[in-house]
Amino acid sequence: MNTANQKNGLAHQCHSLVLRAVHHTIQQGVIDINTERCKGCGLCVATCPAQTLQLSALVNKRGYHYSTQIAEAHCIGCASCALICPDACISVYRTSLTHRTSI
Ligand code: SF4
Ligand code: SF4
Repeated sequence: MNTANQKNGLAHQCHSLVLRAVHHTIQQGVIDINTERCKGCGLCVATCPAQTLQLSALVNKRGYHYSTQIAEAHCIGCASCALICPDACISVYRTSLTHRTSI
């Protein structure tokens, strides 16, 4: 193979690699818990599909073991916790992260 053909072959390979890259978009969530309003009922803990919530060993000013997040990176922003909370203690924010992977 001469030099020109080698260059063409390399360019073709690079082009193929780019075409074989895939993008994954995942949704990640961030929540904010009003711990002073929380009455420690545990409904949000039970409903979280990512199991990122638990009741704290500490108590708030009203003496309740409040909800706290233990694995923030696993939150998918589904908002189940906010919807089920009877006292509207939880706000949910969503963000989309895009990862590029070569296959
Ligand atoms: S938004 Fe969904 S995944 Fe995140 S803490 Fe609430 S219930 Fe769990
Ligand atoms: S559902 Fe609301 S009140 Fe109950 S533990 Fe969770 S944040 Fe607290």
